[in-house]
Amino acid sequence: MLVDHIIIGGGIIGLLVARELRKKSQSSTIVLFEKSPFLGDMATGRNSGVLHAGLYYPTNSLKHYHCLMGNHLWDELSSELDIYLNRCGKYVFATNTKEKTILSELYKQAHKNKVPNISQCGPAEIEALQSFVNIEDAFFSKSTGVLDIADAVKKLELWLEKNDVHLLKGDQVLEIKKEKTFKVTTEKESLTCENLYNCAGGFAIDLRKKLGLDDFESYWVKGNYVRLKKEFYNKSLLYPVPQPELKGLGVHTVFGRDGIIYFGPDTEDTTEYDHKQSDQTIEKMYPVIKEQFKGIEISDLEMAYCGIRPKIKKCGNVYSDFFIGTKEQHGIDNYLEFLGVESPGLTAAPSLVKIVTQ
Ligand SMILES: Cc1cc2nc3c(=O)[nH]c(=O)nc-3n(C[C@H](O)[C@H](O)[C@H](O)COP(=O)(O)OP(=O)(O)OC[C@H]3O[C@@H](n4cnc5c(N)ncnc54)[C@H](O)[C@@H]3O)c2cc1C
Repeated sequence: MLVDHIIIGGGIIGLLVARELRKKSQSSTIVLFEKSPFLGDMATGRNSGVLHAGLYYPTNSLKHYHCLMGNHLWDELSSELDIYLNRCGKYVFATNTKEKTILSELYKQAHKNKVPNISQCGPAEIEALQSFVNIEDAFFSKSTGVLDIADAVKKLELWLEKNDVHLLKGDQVLEIKKEKTFKVTTEKESLTCENLYNCAGGFAIDLRKKLGLDDFESYWVKGNYVRLKKEFYNKSLLYPVPQPELKGLGVHTVFGRDGIIYFGPDTEDTTEYDHKQSDQTIEKMYPVIKEQFKGIEISDLEMAYCGIRPKIKKCGNVYSDFFIGTKEQHGIDNYLEFLGVESPGLTAAPSLVKIVTQ
């Protein structure tokens, strides 16, 4: 059977690609394959849920551009689909003189990136946070927010089903072959399509190899979260300054609708794409938490969840931006791929997917 579009992967990228295609044409046949029995069960459902403002990324990188645009587009999406979004803002804080220098560089970078609504904290604001964090200086980003991801995935699933997108869950794509069209073989069936979208997150690189593309490799970095068993400051997010050697932004607070606080994510290299947390997770994370946050005992923490960052290398070198592969890059007609969509990929997603209809 020949269909117009096949999307591989039911994370936030695949779901929004499907929505974008349906909005463009009511009559096309769109099939999405997700290997897990649930949508949004990999990186999309296992992150901080933060809508980033765009502070950290090199100016004019794809991360910078799509983070700014995506942050704004989530307002439209959340009001169209009634998705819970809390524009709680975040404090980025420095705990010592060395970190104050990093903070001031980050503040300059935020200005260079034209991030809206950032402001330096005054003494009263800093004093108010002193019961919770070891803080010497801070700035506030008002346009940072938290999204209820489970709500977003559910509302997108309902919208796609209502709009006749075929969501085939629990069906892994095993083979893809490019002939005149694409032949896609899954665990359960075989289909051909005119247009193929590789939105497979941490497995996107394995899939593109089936099309003879081998200039990228993937590697994975796990991020663990622990849950706080008592109340803590949850009006805005609290982020330390990012340490240059880290493969993430540093352990910060995360909270959802219920206000329960999580600390995470740490960075742990892994060769297995599984969501097991080591028994030592709390012991490993506690010293970092204790250094930044006040009044937390190790016995206040319990294991929560983890997610895996889909990092990439190009021709052996770390590639730190998103990579959107179109015919211009890989030479294959009607094939689009999203590689290295790590943080701020959730934020950037509504903007990244615009490419399918451009
Ligand atoms: C620890 C952590 C914290 C993060 N925090 C934030 C944050 O606060 N803010 C932010 O903006 N971003 C954050 N991110 C990044 C964000 O989670 C990702 O950028 C985003 O979820 C990527 O979505 P995706 O659809 O590309 O990938 P995924 O959600 O991983 O989706 C890919 C899907 O493809 C499926 N798949 C793979 N292979 C196949 C196959 N062969 N056949 C069928 N299906 C297949 C997978 O099962 C999966 O469901 C974080 C990520 C991590 C790991």
